[in-house]
Amino acid sequence: MSLQFNLLNQTAAGGRRAQLVLPHQAVETPVFMPVGTAGTVKAVPQDVLESLDAQIILGNTYHLYLRPGHEAIRRMGGLHRFISWPRALLTDSGGFQVFSLSQLRKVSEEGVRFRSHLDGSSHFFTPEHSMDVQIALGADIAMAFDECTEYPADRTRAEESLRLTMAWARRSLDHFTAHKHEVPWFEEKGRCMQCFGIVQGGMYRDLRRESAERLVEMDQAGSGFDGYAIGGLSVGEPRDLTMEMIAEVLPLLPKDKPRYVMGVGYPDEIEQYARMGVDMMDCVLPTRAARHGLLFTSEGRLNIKGKKYAEDQGPPDPACDCMVCRRYSRAYLRHLMQAGEALSGTLNSIHNLAYYLGIMKRVRASLARREAGVSTPA
Ligand SMILES: [Zn+2]
Repeated sequence: MSLQFNLLNQTAAGGRRAQLVLPHQAVETPVFMPVGTAGTVKAVPQDVLESLDAQIILGNTYHLYLRPGHEAIRRMGGLHRFISWPRALLTDSGGFQVFSLSQLRKVSEEGVRFRSHLDGSSHFFTPEHSMDVQIALGADIAMAFDECTEYPADRTRAEESLRLTMAWARRSLDHFTAHKHEVPWFEEKGRCMQCFGIVQGGMYRDLRRESAERLVEMDQAGSGFDGYAIGGLSVGEPRDLTMEMIAEVLPLLPKDKPRYVMGVGYPDEIEQYARMGVDMMDCVLPTRAARHGLLFTSEGRLNIKGKKYAEDQGPPDPACDCMVCRRYSRAYLRHLMQAGEALSGTLNSIHNLAYYLGIMKRVRASLARREAGVSTPA
């Protein structure tokens, strides 16, 4: 098997602790993946991400394709080398941004034509092209090209969108399988990158089930997807519905492969989903909120712009031992924000990432204790 996913423990509720061995890093799951949109987790240097124990980060294919360009990154040895990140990387397919950021997009069976949000230039993305771009970028994990079904979407629209996503998944997988050895670091690592399929289906339980089953069926010859993502969630639907869709899909996915819920969520959500059996999650929320002065703390959400923090000399979060909370006061963080200082986004982002990564660390420790409890004879 090309992908190593060592399941260490599973609880009755479905929560599981595992080790995902990727070409650049053995990732302890469940894991939260900070989002490095354009080759940077905004405002946070790579050495700080390492000290925060980030094991894997995301890159956005759409952004990197447009600027600096995937061929330039390939010539420089791939994304790991270009951004100086030795640990694991995952790239999305570009689909989500094509649909959310680009202008004048036109979807056909073949692919999507769109205009760049940067300069209006015209581009055409197909599943094959998305795979080629992702292979040139050379993350550890690539994602199948899909259409993220918007919310709300009526039944007909969700069905049509799912049909397209399933056809594109097949084409993504076939093209990826034929070309995965072209990844820039293949010679060096002697290993290939991985590819995950994406479950869509809008907010229809039966469509979600159909999507999951059809993706899993593509594994017949032992050359199927290396893992499965659940996409099209956290797109504006109520949280109960998000959870219902995840709960519907998880039991249908193979136990011996990683499961990734894309684009979630708030701190309590990522903990809840991890305990249900989700292995990987990513979200821009901790860094985006940080740049707007919103801190996630053990005492709840804290808006650092608040006047009441003007002379508050306490740490942002008294229960946090991150490098920001150990050194700086709420008053200082508020001042940086008020003054529009660049350091503001950096310090706020570091704390929020520490908070998110800390949640996953605690969940992993709690799953490990359960493991000890059930596997060690009294
Ligand atoms: Zn902190």
